[in-house]
Amino acid sequence: MAAYKETRGLAVLGSTGSIGTQALEVVDAHPDRLRVVALTAQRNVDLLEEQARRYRPPLVCMAEAEAAEELARRLRGTGVEVAAGPEGLLEAAAYPLADTVLNAIVGSAGLPPTLAALGAGKRLALANKESMVAGGELVLSALHNGGELIPVDSEHGAVFHCLRGEDPGDVEAIVLTASGGPFYGRSRAELAEVTVEDALAHPTWSMGKKITVDSATLMNKGLEVIEAHFLFGVPYERIKVVAHPQSVVHSLVEFRDGSLAAQLSVPDMRLPIALALSYPERWGPPFRRTDLAELGRLTFGEVDRETFGCLELAYRAGRRGGTATAALNAANEVAVEAFLRGRIGFLDIERIIGETLEAHVPRPVRSLDDVLAVEEWARAKASWLVDGEET
Ligand code: NDP
Repeated sequence: MAAYKETRGLAVLGSTGSIGTQALEVVDAHPDRLRVVALTAQRNVDLLEEQARRYRPPLVCMAEAEAAEELARRLRGTGVEVAAGPEGLLEAAAYPLADTVLNAIVGSAGLPPTLAALGAGKRLALANKESMVAGGELVLSALHNGGELIPVDSEHGAVFHCLRGEDPGDVEAIVLTASGGPFYGRSRAELAEVTVEDALAHPTWSMGKKITVDSATLMNKGLEVIEAHFLFGVPYERIKVVAHPQSVVHSLVEFRDGSLAAQLSVPDMRLPIALALSYPERWGPPFRRTDLAELGRLTFGEVDRETFGCLELAYRAGRRGGTATAALNAANEVAVEAFLRGRIGFLDIERIIGETLEAHVPRPVRSLDDVLAVEEWARAKASWLVDGEET
C-alpha cells in the first residue's frame, strides 16, 4: 500500500463559502492530518481575515483586487502573503506546499484553478462541478500530468466509493439521487408563482445561493449528470436520475449482474468533504452517525422532467457535446443571478437557458480559450434575454 504523509498540506479555494467553511471544520477535527497552506475568496475580507489569523496559511488570495488590497493592509505584519485576482487563484491552486487542493469556488470561474491544480500534479478535491461542465475534456487531459481528481459532490463521492475495487467494465448504469428540491411535486402553474425566498428554502441541504436555486430548478442534477459522464466515462443514456426526498442514499451504481451498490448517510457535506480529503484512508470519529431505524423510511420516485425542464436541457447539451455544456452552464449562471436579483421569474431561468442553447452551434473543446469564448457569447446572449424579459 502507498505511504501517505502524516500531515497533508491543504489549499482551500473558496474558503469563505458553504463548502469552504465546512472543509475548515474537517480540518479542525483532524489537525494532525491536515494543515491549511492556502485560502482564497472573492470579496469577503472579514471572514478571510479571520480564517487567515486562525490557520496562519503562508498564502491567501482575494479574487477581487480591491478586496485583496484591504486584506493585505489588515494582515500586515502577520507573515501571511496576500495574492490578488485570477493569477493569485492560479498561484494558490498550484502552491508547492499544497498536497491537496479543494476547489470550492462557485461557477465556472473555478475552471482555470482546476486546470492549474491538476497541471501541477496535485490531488484535486473537486466541489466546483461547473469546472467539469464547462471544460470536462480539458480537465480529463490535465489529469495526464500526474494529478488526481476526487469528487466532493455527495452524489459523485458516493459513486466514487461504490466503484472502489470494481472493474469499470462491470458498470451498467450510474443512478444519481435527487432530493427534488423545495418544489418537488409542484405543477408548472405553481412554479410560475414561486419567489426567491421559496427557492432558497431547500428541504435537506444548507448550501450557497447559486446551488440552492440550481437544486430548485433541477439544473443542479443536470450539471451532475454531465459531471458524472466526464468523471466516470459513462454515456448519457446510462446515467439515470431518481427522486429521493430524504437525501440519505447519496447515489448508486448498477452492475451488469443487476446488483446495486449505494452509499448512505444523513445529509451532511462534511462527510463527502472528509472522504475526499482522507482518501484512500478513512478518518474518524464521524460528525454524525446514521441511525436507519430512526430514519424509518426511505422513498424513491420518478423525476418529473416535463415540469422541471432544466434537467432535460442538460442531457441535451451533454449529448450534443463540445462547447454545448459550457454554453448551458454560462447561460444558467446568468439566469440564476438575474433570478436572485429579482429581475426574472423562476420559469424564465429554463427558458433563457433553452433559447441560448438553441442559438448555439457547438464546436470541439481544444483549449481553455475555446471555453472562454463560448462562455462570453452565452453570457451575452443570456443577458440580452434577461433584459428583454425586464422591459
Ligand atoms: P458559496 O457561494 O457558499 O461559496 C463560494 C465561494 O467561492 C466563496 O468563498 C466565494 O468567495 C468564492 N467565489 C465566488 N465567486 C468567485 C470567483 N468569481 N472567483 C473566486 N472565488 C469566488 O458556494 P458553495 O460553497 O455552496 O458551492 C461551491 C461549489 O461547490 C459550487 O460549485 C457548488 O455547486 C458545489 N457544491 C456545493 C455544495 C454545498 O453543499 N454547498 C454541495 C455540492 C457541491 P466570497 O465569499 O468572498 O464571495
